[in-house]
Amino acid sequence: MKKIVIVGALGYLGTELCKIYSGESWLNKIVAIDSRFVSERVSQLKDWNIEFFQGQIFDLDFLKKHLKDADIVHHLAGVTDVAYVKKETSSELDEKIRATAIDGTNNILNSIPEKCKIIFPSTHVIFEGYKETKLDIAEIEKPKPILIYSSSKVQNEEDIRKTNKNYIILRLGSVYGYSLDTMRINIMPNLFSKIASQNGTIQLFSGGKQIKSLVSLIDVVRCMKFMEENDKIKKETFNLAKESVTVKQVAEMCKKYSPNISIEVTDDETPNLGYTLSNKKLLSTGFKFLHNLDNSIKEMIEKWSYEKFDNSLEYVFKGKNEFVDERGKISNYELPEPINLIGYIESKKGTIRANHFHPIQEQKCLLVKGQFISIYKDLLNKNSIKVTHVVNEGDMIVTKPNVAHTMVFTKDSIFLNLVRGEREHKNYGITHTLPHKLVNEAERDLLSHIYKFDCRCCGSNKLKRVLSLGYQPLANNLLDNKNQKAELYPLELNVCEKCFNCQLSVVIDSDKMFKNYLYQSSTTETFRNHFKESCKKYINKFNLKKDAYIIDIGSNDGIALKPFLDLGYKNIQGVEPAKNLSDLANMNNIKTYNGYLNNEAIKNIKGNADLVLASNVFAHADDLKSMAECMKKLIKDEGSIVIEVQYLLNTLTDLTFDNIYHEHTNYWSLTALEMFFNNLGCKIFDVERINTHGGSLRVYVSKNPNVKIEKSVSQLIQIEKDYGLNNLKTYFKFGKNIENLKEKVVNNIQFLKTKYKSIIGYGAPAKSTTSLNFFKISSEIDYIIEDNKFKVGKYVPGVNIEIKNKNEIKNNGCILVLAWNFFKDIKKNNNSLSKNFINIKDLEKEKLS
Ligand SMILES: [Zn+2]
Repeated sequence: MKKIVIVGALGYLGTELCKIYSGESWLNKIVAIDSRFVSERVSQLKDWNIEFFQGQIFDLDFLKKHLKDADIVHHLAGVTDVAYVKKETSSELDEKIRATAIDGTNNILNSIPEKCKIIFPSTHVIFEGYKETKLDIAEIEKPKPILIYSSSKVQNEEDIRKTNKNYIILRLGSVYGYSLDTMRINIMPNLFSKIASQNGTIQLFSGGKQIKSLVSLIDVVRCMKFMEENDKIKKETFNLAKESVTVKQVAEMCKKYSPNISIEVTDDETPNLGYTLSNKKLLSTGFKFLHNLDNSIKEMIEKWSYEKFDNSLEYVFKGKNEFVDERGKISNYELPEPINLIGYIESKKGTIRANHFHPIQEQKCLLVKGQFISIYKDLLNKNSIKVTHVVNEGDMIVTKPNVAHTMVFTKDSIFLNLVRGEREHKNYGITHTLPHKLVNEAERDLLSHIYKFDCRCCGSNKLKRVLSLGYQPLANNLLDNKNQKAELYPLELNVCEKCFNCQLSVVIDSDKMFKNYLYQSSTTETFRNHFKESCKKYINKFNLKKDAYIIDIGSNDGIALKPFLDLGYKNIQGVEPAKNLSDLANMNNIKTYNGYLNNEAIKNIKGNADLVLASNVFAHADDLKSMAECMKKLIKDEGSIVIEVQYLLNTLTDLTFDNIYHEHTNYWSLTALEMFFNNLGCKIFDVERINTHGGSLRVYVSKNPNVKIEKSVSQLIQIEKDYGLNNLKTYFKFGKNIENLKEKVVNNIQFLKTKYKSIIGYGAPAKSTTSLNFFKISSEIDYIIEDNKFKVGKYVPGVNIEIKNKNEIKNNGCILVLAWNFFKDIKKNNNSLSKNFINIKDLEKEKLS
C-alpha cells in the first residue's frame, strides 16, 4: 500500500487528479492537502475515501506531519492568477508567487523521506524569452524565463534536481479543458470557449498568429499518474504537450461550435510569435494521449451555453445508443439532473398512484415492466388543461415541478423512481411531495375502459401525443338545459411512430355518439350539391347502367343516394345507425338499414354491389378493419369502394384542429390509408383531393389485384413525404402551433365583446364544440343560431351556450360564424341580420382591429 499525497488538491489539476485516484482509493492511501477549504469538494473527497487536510505549504510542521511517510507527492501548489505580460506585474504579487513557488517547494522537499517520488508540473512559459519562433523545443534546451512565474519554475526545477530525491518534472503546454475549479478559466482555449458559450467577441491580438503548445487537463493528470506508477522512470524531465496550434485556429474551432460569435483581429505587438514543445521523449515512454482540443472546446461550449428549457410539462423518452446482440439489449437514459435515491415500485393493474406534485424537483420514472396512463396538469397556470398519455415498458417519463400528476396502471407494473434529495417511505417529504387529487376512482375506471393503446392501422403500441385539447364533451351530444353537465373525455391526438397513422387517445362507445344523431347532412346546400356532382361523376367513371346496385355506408338521411334515385337508379341501399335519420330516409323512399355495418348487418343487406360509398364515416368507427372487410364482402369483384374522408394534410397545413372530436377516432393520410388497405388485400387505385369539411380525400379502392393504379396515388404519396408526414417532428410542430392559437383567440374575443357588446354565434357544428371548449369561450357568446331545427332549443355541451332559431335574432351586434367552412354562404344568405360577420377562424390570426 502506497501513501500518495496530492498537495494543492482543490486546484485545477488537483481536482482532476483526485478524481482519477478515487477509482482505487481502497488500494492506496490517498491524502489531499490544500490551503483552501471548499465544502462541496471536501465532502466529495470524503465520499471518494480521500483524506483531506487544510494547511499552508509555508507551515513546515504541517507538511512534515503529512509527508514524512509519503511514497509519492504530487506537488501542484502554486499561485495561479499570475501575470502573463510585464505591465500587469506588481512587486507584491511577485513576492507571493516567488515565496509560494520557491519556499513552498523547498519545504516539501525538506518534508519528504528519501525514497519518496515527487511529481512536479513545470511550464512551457520558461521559454518565453526567445525572440524568434522556436518549434519543437526539446527538454535539453536552455530555459529563458522573464517574468517571476517562469523564473520561479526554473528555480524549482533546479532545486528539485539538486536534491537526491526521485523526481519527475513535467513541463506542461497550455492546459485546457472543462473543470469545476474556477481558477483557470482564463487559459486561452477555456477563455475562448467561455466567450463562445455566451456568443461574445473573441479578440485576437496581432491577428492570433502566436503559436502555442496545448494539452488537455485530463491527459495531464493521466500523465502524472502514469509517472507515479512507472517505477522505471526516475529523475527525468518531460515536455507534456499535445497539439501545436495558433491562437487564431483555436478561435476558429470555437466558431465552429458557436457560429454566432464575432472574432476581432487587432494588429498590436505580442512579445514573440510563440514556441512549441516536442513531446517525442514523453511518447517514447509509452504514454498515450487520449483527448483532443476540438472535443474539449465542444464540451466546454456545450456545458456553458444556455439551452432553451424543454417546456413540456411532462415528456417521455426511450433510452438511446441502443446496443443489441444475442445476449439482449442495452440502452442509455440521460437524466436532466443528478439523482441520489432510487425507489423500486411495484403496482398492480387497476391501481392508482401519485395524485400529487413536487414543488421543487422533477419526477423521473423509468417503467421497467407493464403500462400506465399518466394524467397531468400544470398547477402554476390556472387555464391549464388536464392531459393524458400512455407510458409503455422502457419509457422514461419526466414531470416538471408543480405539475400535478397521477398514474393509472393498466397492467401489473414495475417502475424505478429516480430522485434527487429527500425521500421518505411515507412518500410525503417536507418539500419533496405534496398531495393533489387529480384523478378519482371513477375517472380511473373510465380511462382504463376507453383508452386506446395500439395503432388502428398497424397494431404498434408506439403512440406519441401530438396535441391535447383537454377533457371535452361529445361534440354532437347537445344538452337539453342550461345547467346540464356533459360527460367529459380526453380529446387528444396521437401519432403512431411506426406508420404515422393519427388517432385519438380514447375510443368512446359508438352508441353514446350515434344513437340519436342530430347532424342532418341535407340541411346544407353545399353538401347536397357535392353529392349531386359525385353521383354524376361515378355514373360516368364506372359507366353505371340504370340497374347498377349502389350502397352507401353511414348514409345519414340519404343525401348521397337521393341524386341516384332522382336519375332513375332504383337499386340503392343505405346503412345508417341513427334511428331518426334512417327513418327519415326510408320515408323518402331511400331504402335504409338501421344499424352499424358489421357481420350481423350484412346478413340483412344484399351483396354484389357495383359501388359501395362511405363518406365521412371511415374516420368514425374504432373497428375499421371489420367495417372495411364488410365493405369488401358487399362489392362484386369488379366493383369499387369509394371513401371520402377528412384529409390529415389539410388539418395540419390549415391548423383545422376543430376537425378533431370524439366521433372522428381516426385522421387519415393517404400513406396510412394505403397501408391499411394493402393489409386487407385491397388496392387504392385512384385518389382525389376534394373540398368538403375543409379538405378531404376521395379514395377509390378495389379488391381486384390487377386493377390499374393511376399516377395520382404515387403523386400524392410524394406530396405527403415532401410535407414531412413521415416525420414525427411535423406532428409535434402542429401540436405546438395549435397550443399557441389559444392566447390570440381569447384576446380577440374580448376585443369583439368590447366593440360590439353582443356576439351571436352562427351554426353549431361539432367542430364548434371542440373550438369553444378548447378556447374556453362561453359567456362571451349570447346565443347561437342554427338552421338545423333538431338543434334549436338545445345547448352546446361543455360551454352551455343556447342554440336558437334564426327568427329569434334581436340585436345586430356581430355574428361570429362558427360553421366557418360555410362562411361565404352564411354571410350571403343572411345579410339582413347584421353588417358584421366575422369568421371564427380569423380570431386565430393576429390581433383584430
Ligand atoms: Zn401504426
